[in-house]
Amino acid sequence: MENLKVLFTEEQIQNRIREVANEMNDFYKGEEICAICVLKGAVMFATDLIRCLNMPMQLEFIRLSSYNNSHKSSGKVHAVDISLPDLNDKNVLIIEDIVDTGLTAQFLLDFIKANFHTKSTKFCSLLDKKIARVNDVEPDYYCFEVGDKFLVGYGLDESGYSRNLPYIGYKE
Ligand code: 5GP
Repeated sequence: MENLKVLFTEEQIQNRIREVANEMNDFYKGEEICAICVLKGAVMFATDLIRCLNMPMQLEFIRLSSYNNSHKSSGKVHAVDISLPDLNDKNVLIIEDIVDTGLTAQFLLDFIKANFHTKSTKFCSLLDKKIARVNDVEPDYYCFEVGDKFLVGYGLDESGYSRNLPYIGYKE
C-alpha cells in the first residue's frame, strides 16, 4: 500500500503480545480455556497470541461484520457465522483485532451471556480505540491504545486488502 506510515512495527507487536500472553498465563494458571477468534481481522493476532499461551485450550472461530467495506462502522453488527460449541462452565477468551465503537464487543458479550453460563468470559483486543467508543465496553486485555485513525495491516484490512502486512500502519 502506498504512503503507509508505520504505527507499530512487527517487533513491537510481537514483544507486546508476549507480555499480554504472560499476564494471561498467570491469570489462567491451571485452568483450561476456550479461545474464540473473531474473523477475519483477529486471525494474525490470535494465532500469534495463542502460541504464547501455555494452558490447555480449544480454539473456535466466529465471523462478524460491521463495516461494509467502508472506514466507518455501520452501527449494526451482523453475525456472518457464530456457530459455537457448548461453552457452559468454560473459561471463554474472545480475541478481537480492535475495539472501536465497542458495538461488536457488546454484541458478542451479550450473545455469550444470553446463550451460556460460562465459568468466566474475558475480552482481549489487539488494539483499543477508546476515543471512538459509544458504550462502556472495556477489553480485559489489549496490546495498544490507538487514536482515531483508520489502521491497516496485521489482520486489519482496507476493502479486503493489506491484512498480510506484518506491521500496523495508516495512510498519511
Ligand atoms: P466496533 O464494533 O468496535 O466499532 O468495530 C469493530 C470492528 O470494526 C473491528 O473488528 C474491525 O474489523 C473494524 N475496525 C474498527 N476500526 C478499524 C480500523 O481502524 N481499521 C480497520 N481496518 N478496521 C477497523
